[in-house]
Amino acid sequence: MEVYIIKSMSNSYLTSDGVLIDAGARVTDITKVAREHGIDIKYLFITHYHVDHTRYAHEIVKALNCKVVASIPESSIIEGKEKPKTTSLLQSIISIFMRIKPVSVDIKVNDGDIIEGYKAIYAPGHTPGSTAYFKDGILFSGGDAIVEHGGKPAPPPREFTINMEEAMRSMDKLLSLRPRIIYPGHGKPISLST
Ligand SMILES: [Zn+2]
Repeated sequence: MEVYIIKSMSNSYLTSDGVLIDAGARVTDITKVAREHGIDIKYLFITHYHVDHTRYAHEIVKALNCKVVASIPESSIIEGKEKPKTTSLLQSIISIFMRIKPVSVDIKVNDGDIIEGYKAIYAPGHTPGSTAYFKDGILFSGGDAIVEHGGKPAPPPREFTINMEEAMRSMDKLLSLRPRIIYPGHGKPISLST
């Protein structure tokens, strides 16, 4: 599997098997990469509801007609049926100014469900339904469930994390999968020797 990084407010990833992970990049930037590599995008996997990971979901789905995949606890927020929990006043203000158009979630995954060979792994803490996706030793780390810091895996930033203790447990859970490489929501890919 080849993985292409599309950088914007957060990292979105496009894989050669037609999966887009997260929707922080504009559809034009995504289709450019897809065209270059002859990729037909069939799925949009959402790791968590934060605006930098979902901002362009609506425009992407409209243009590409791909199926949206998200965890059960995040789905009602992504669909606009429930208000997200915020960790700070700053975040509440940001969410007011950056209202996201909701999208309907076609496949609501449970912990351990497999879609197109990708195993959904619940990694709560940063948000209650943060979800990582794992395939062939490659871990898409639930957006912010693991971030890159100095080339090493690090927990998400405290000020944007709802339950830090839970986030630390989720990071351990993800690392226990012994991924070869981690693609985080922010920062550079992390190579691990297993
Ligand atoms: Zn986040």
